[in-house]
Amino acid sequence: MTTFETTDPTGPGRLFIGGQWREAADGARTEVVDPSRGTVLTTVAAAGPADVDAAVRAAREAFDSGPWSGFSGRDRGRVLHRVAELIRAEADEIARLESLDVGKPITLAHAVDVTNAANDYEYYAALAHTLDGSTRDTPLNALAYTQRGPIGVVAAITPFNFPLILAGSKIAPALAAGNTVVHKPADETPLSALYMAGLFQRAGVPDGVVNVVTGTGPVAGEALLRHPGVDKIAFTGSTAVGRHAASVAGENLKPVTMELGGNAAHLVFEDADLEKAVGAVIKAFVFNTGQFCMGGPRLLVARPVHATLLKILAEAVPGVPVGDPRLPETVVGPMAGERHLRKVEEYVALARKEGARIVCGGERLGLDGGYYYRPTVIADLSNDSRVIQEEVFGPVLTVQPFDSEDEAIALANSTPYGLAAGVQTGNLARAHRVADRLQAGIVWVNDWAMLDPAVPFGGVKESGFGREYGPEALASYTKVKSVVVSLD
Ligand code: NAD
Repeated sequence: MTTFETTDPTGPGRLFIGGQWREAADGARTEVVDPSRGTVLTTVAAAGPADVDAAVRAAREAFDSGPWSGFSGRDRGRVLHRVAELIRAEADEIARLESLDVGKPITLAHAVDVTNAANDYEYYAALAHTLDGSTRDTPLNALAYTQRGPIGVVAAITPFNFPLILAGSKIAPALAAGNTVVHKPADETPLSALYMAGLFQRAGVPDGVVNVVTGTGPVAGEALLRHPGVDKIAFTGSTAVGRHAASVAGENLKPVTMELGGNAAHLVFEDADLEKAVGAVIKAFVFNTGQFCMGGPRLLVARPVHATLLKILAEAVPGVPVGDPRLPETVVGPMAGERHLRKVEEYVALARKEGARIVCGGERLGLDGGYYYRPTVIADLSNDSRVIQEEVFGPVLTVQPFDSEDEAIALANSTPYGLAAGVQTGNLARAHRVADRLQAGIVWVNDWAMLDPAVPFGGVKESGFGREYGPEALASYTKVKSVVVSLD
């Protein structure tokens, strides 16, 4: 037994409202499962409408009384710097928690999740004092200027796959701009959000500025979405729930950003460095056990190198280390929950029924009762198969040949999604030409998943709208006011 089984640093798993830890008003709790064992790890409070109301009121009071929105941007930046420092100082503990909760390999949790979360807070700490307005040249006999200020109470609703990073990509810019936040983490993976609540307090974020309500989507999430005291909704999750959230936001005329599903195409041209491309192809579909909105599950390969690449994948993919996320050498851990594993099994069964060729994988990996699935490569599917058109969200790669650049682009753009895409080519002109024509919020050339808080990402088509990261995200947590002063 390692310490992983025995310690729960989030303590009793209560709601964090107005700087206080408290149980749900009706005492309800929900289970958190260890995906590497299929056993219950702990329970956390399950917020109901009364708790969500208390959290929104606390955020409203904190906003209106101004301990945060009244700070200068530079002072807010100082506190956010402390958040980044504490994340780095407590990296081992936070990575351990994220790994335990999501089933992420510990090495990945450290190198990607914790590192990026710290970078997010540091980046927006630096941007916090850039919220300047400007004077405007007009024919009026007046001094006209703009001011940029916070919107108010932000509802941040986040998914299960990157709990720490996706909370940070909302909370960091929201706080930098002077807003207050109510965060509803995913039902299945709430632990790092609770840990961060305590960390914010230790960093000097005033009480009520960040509130965390754990609980289910249909109860806690829905109550937050509909609460009249919320001024902006920042949602990341599936396209189905996002569609619902956008319609509720529309009814209530709330500004909203939507980071939704993805199903990216990865294009390999015959002029690519194949050895390098294979590394990127494998990373793109196994990263985070394929539970990556910006993963690359659809491989499109130029016909002259199609057979060669399939052969290389058939040899290389079974060698990817799958197993216990606690072990430093593990690259692919379990799926984060049983429902995700079942969904992957259903899609692979459908591929078989449609006569596809399972090049490798195609089955569960029986290990410790956990939700493991072997990385799987599938060839010979028709482009209209649901396995290609829909978001499988697991370690599954489909491979299709193409005969021309136009055909590659048409196949890449043929699904309802448009979050990310990738191009492998040695031809510089082609790289730019193809990147320009791909319908995606971010395009990577000759690698995959190169992400940084300075570089915005987000969707087109059914992958949503709005951008996270970059000054673009900061701007989305602000409103502009114009002041025109008569000089008569
Ligand atoms: P999900 O849509 O099931 O849940 C997302 C969040 O919404 C959770 O916190 C959930 O509790 C909440 N929710 C559910 N029903 C709700 C309701 N009625 N009202 C309010 N909130 C509700 O998504 P998931 O399964 O947790 O995450 C996977 C999905 O997220 C995938 O589709 C993936 O592509 C997408 N995703 C997108 C991005 C991006 O940046 N575009 C990033 C990560 C994940």
